[in-house]
Amino acid sequence: MSKLLEWLARFRARNTRSGFTCDCCECEIFDYPLHRVCARCEKSFLENTGRFCEKCGRKTLAEGICLSCKREAPAFKLGVSPFVYFGEVASLINRVKNGNRRLACYFGERMATRFLEAVPEAKMRFGEGRYAVNEFPLGIGDDGKRWKEGETLYIAPVPTTEESRRARGYNQAEELAQAVAEQLVEEGLTIAYCPNALEKRETSEQKKLSFSERVKSAEEAYRVQDRSLWKDRTVLLVDDIMTTGATGSACARRLYKAKAKEVFFLVGASLPEKK
Ligand SMILES: [Zn+2]
Ligand SMILES: [Zn+2]
Repeated sequence: MSKLLEWLARFRARNTRSGFTCDCCECEIFDYPLHRVCARCEKSFLENTGRFCEKCGRKTLAEGICLSCKREAPAFKLGVSPFVYFGEVASLINRVKNGNRRLACYFGERMATRFLEAVPEAKMRFGEGRYAVNEFPLGIGDDGKRWKEGETLYIAPVPTTEESRRARGYNQAEELAQAVAEQLVEEGLTIAYCPNALEKRETSEQKKLSFSERVKSAEEAYRVQDRSLWKDRTVLLVDDIMTTGATGSACARRLYKAKAKEVFFLVGASLPEKK
């Protein structure tokens, strides 16, 4: 498949007008579909580097924990995002859907890389670690006990309601979760991709609610499909963007209630801390 794509890209590059455009700004792009976003657009994406919140992972103004986490810490253990929710990147992440696999792979790869940077012990715990248990203190958990060999990382997308899925035709969180799973498998991790881990019901309009009402309403909206599956599991929740963090927190709380051991929250882009 990739050989064919490369050949196609070369073929198009030889012709002066490619007829293919950047998925973001629609300028002409000659090596499409090898690249679905032009170099200029890619440059405009604000990477989430420098200072970010030690809890939710959003870009912050000062060291430590962001204001929103100080007010109410999210339920997930750690939030991670490669990009800042700014400019075109958010709308592009929203357009990640089946049939646009290279774009999903682009974000999935960046998300997986960022996750491994933020949780460096993940490689050891969920894969190659099997061969590195002697490198003390690696391999020893917070409780002082050695990690079990061959742990599995469970990847679950944040669900949408059946209604919005039908209207849209896809759930971008699912497309991203799948791309992240594929990338982490390539990195040697043991992954279980669980697209139906959670489900979402229709609830009242979220925007009119206060933060704590939002958290409560969000939690009521999500349900773990099979509660018996999650005991002692480590889950990587995946969504497209993080604004308040209420959604990720609600899903994480549901998983913790089903006795999950740890829940991480990985998104494509997160809203920076407000000035
Ligand atoms: Zn562009
Ligand atoms: Zn935070």
